[in-house]
Amino acid sequence: MNAHPSVLSAPALSFAIPSSRWDATAAAAMSPEALLLYRSNLLGSDLTITNFGGGNTSAKLMETDPLTGEQVEILWVKGSGGDIGSMKLDGFATLYQEKLLGLERHYGGPDDDDKMVGYLPHCTFNLNGRAASIDTPLHSLLPFAHVDHVHPDAIIALAASSGGEEAAKAIWGGRVGWLPWKRPGYTLGVQLRDYVAAHPGIEAVVLAGHGVISWGTDARDCYERTVRLIAEAAEYLNKGMAGKPAFGGQVVAPLADRAAIAAKAMVKLRGLLTGARTKIGHWSDDAETMEFTGSADFARLAAIGTSCPDHFLRTKIAPLTLDVADLDDASVLTAKLDAYRAGYKAYYERCRRPNSPAMRDPNPVVILVPGVGRMTFAADKTTARLAGEFYANAINVMRGAEAIGSYIGLDEQEAFDIEYWLLEEAKLQRMPKPKPLVGKIALVTGGAGGIGRATAARLLSEGACVLLADRDEASLEDAKAAFAGQYGRDVIRTAACDVTDEAQVAAAFETCAREFGGVDILVANAGIASAAPIEETTTELWRRNHDVLAEGYFLTARSAFPMMKAMASQGGGSIIFIGSKNAVAAAKNASAYASAKAAANHLARCLALEGAPFGIRVNVVNPDAVIKGSKIWDGDWRQERAGAYGIDPGAELEAHYRNRSLLKRDVLPEDIAEAVYFFAGELSAKSTGNMLNVDAGNEQAFPR
Ligand SMILES: [Zn+2]
Repeated sequence: MNAHPSVLSAPALSFAIPSSRWDATAAAAMSPEALLLYRSNLLGSDLTITNFGGGNTSAKLMETDPLTGEQVEILWVKGSGGDIGSMKLDGFATLYQEKLLGLERHYGGPDDDDKMVGYLPHCTFNLNGRAASIDTPLHSLLPFAHVDHVHPDAIIALAASSGGEEAAKAIWGGRVGWLPWKRPGYTLGVQLRDYVAAHPGIEAVVLAGHGVISWGTDARDCYERTVRLIAEAAEYLNKGMAGKPAFGGQVVAPLADRAAIAAKAMVKLRGLLTGARTKIGHWSDDAETMEFTGSADFARLAAIGTSCPDHFLRTKIAPLTLDVADLDDASVLTAKLDAYRAGYKAYYERCRRPNSPAMRDPNPVVILVPGVGRMTFAADKTTARLAGEFYANAINVMRGAEAIGSYIGLDEQEAFDIEYWLLEEAKLQRMPKPKPLVGKIALVTGGAGGIGRATAARLLSEGACVLLADRDEASLEDAKAAFAGQYGRDVIRTAACDVTDEAQVAAAFETCAREFGGVDILVANAGIASAAPIEETTTELWRRNHDVLAEGYFLTARSAFPMMKAMASQGGGSIIFIGSKNAVAAAKNASAYASAKAAANHLARCLALEGAPFGIRVNVVNPDAVIKGSKIWDGDWRQERAGAYGIDPGAELEAHYRNRSLLKRDVLPEDIAEAVYFFAGELSAKSTGNMLNVDAGNEQAFPR
């Protein structure tokens, strides 16, 4: 066996056993179409049944033809894209079953798979715009009213093991069939139909290297059969693994400080990735990953690569594996990443066909480090997180497969043909252009206040990931919930942070590094304001202003610098200071505030000079009298300013500032956010050391 001097023997993680969640009362009132949707959502929302976005479901239902008024048999089948767990009825393609069956006259053999996809739109029922997926023939060619196709880890484990077919016999006797690996498409549909015809009475078929397809007489029967088959496979595998460690046992234990190590490593690795756009990272130390990466068999199995097509399309065939010691040595990291990219290029050259699309991104998606965990990098946060979760699925598959035999990866050429499938390429070409800040990470201090929140909203709306740092934890939670609702949970993080506290600032940047992979855009915005004549300005008030407005900006910029330097080869970064009109215009009775703001603005110029060689740009936005939503204007400052002008602190104050401006307009947080957005991205790529007034016009603040 896999004896190793330091092997520990914690028992292997086990497969979760799914159970039926069918609610007969709820289902009783449902139409046949609603029952199909209900069944699909139940299956897809249980990750023990299928991975995200994996699998499809169908029902053959009688519908009224809009032209003839006659009853016709229609195949409702999950359309291309989407996820059965969250789909709605409009996610199903609807096609005339009779026309689908008639397509066989155009089928001459396996080389016609691509051609057959082109005929599917001709079978559309009722002008339904949802495109039919390549799995449609699997459903149309089977003579059953209800069909499920899912990718459960427990069954793929059988499907990707040398002992899988034998295990399937042991679990199900002759009840479940077995088809060797075949790429999804019309040919697989024909093979499946012929297999089922030759094996009457079977309940389902395992598709080697892929998943399972099962059927039933009604929606509930079909659903419960699918769940039962998965539970039976999981129980069998759990019995086989019981009491034994997985993957030959643990040789590297999870490191206690792995979160901090990961935060540093994410920044370095992200900076060494190549490509036209920067990527977002995701780190996880979930139990599957720690068990696998710390095991005796890790290197051998990781090199074999993932099996199920759904997995490797997200994860690439094989991960990049590193030792924790590699993370401290930039030259080793560079060499290993270069070697990975060279390996990918070699795979492309070995497997390419004359008409293959151009080589895609050669960078690793999944990076595994024993003791530290799993890091994934992709164009956006959700894709990075999902790639990681798919790799966890792949680990489950390997654990089960090794428990009953040897794990088998997918043949390289087969994998290539799926990855570079021409129809898939056409789909990629049709994808909309990404938003300007997709792949960028922003950290906004004072992120829960008026300008901070408006700025975060602007950056999120352009595709950035945002970490909000603020002292006010209740407002932070509120802002996070609102942004998560609008932009999704993946792209928003928070850190409780007082910018005058060196340790808290460092911790906020570490969180940003661990959660996203670094910082590309820093918006130093956290501020206060005070007013007092010089003789009444206490040293405490003086220091408070300089602590928050000068030192706070210094501390955040200092933390941002190394993370942005790490991205020097990919464009560096952008630092934006929220200044003030009073940074350039003298303010009566506010010397502590105005001088601290002036110090911050000059700091920006100094940093623009220091940052330029690394592509780090530093610019300032000078607002004036942004009252709406501002915490500064909620308190004493409003009273003081109104008192200074001898006016009412409510609407009169806002009118006072509006009328004082040259353009006679209110300045809103959204106006400041727009200027920040300009400095954050490519629009201002050739601008640094600059200042932009957003104050509705103020002669005193004109730059000179
Ligand atoms: Zn599938």
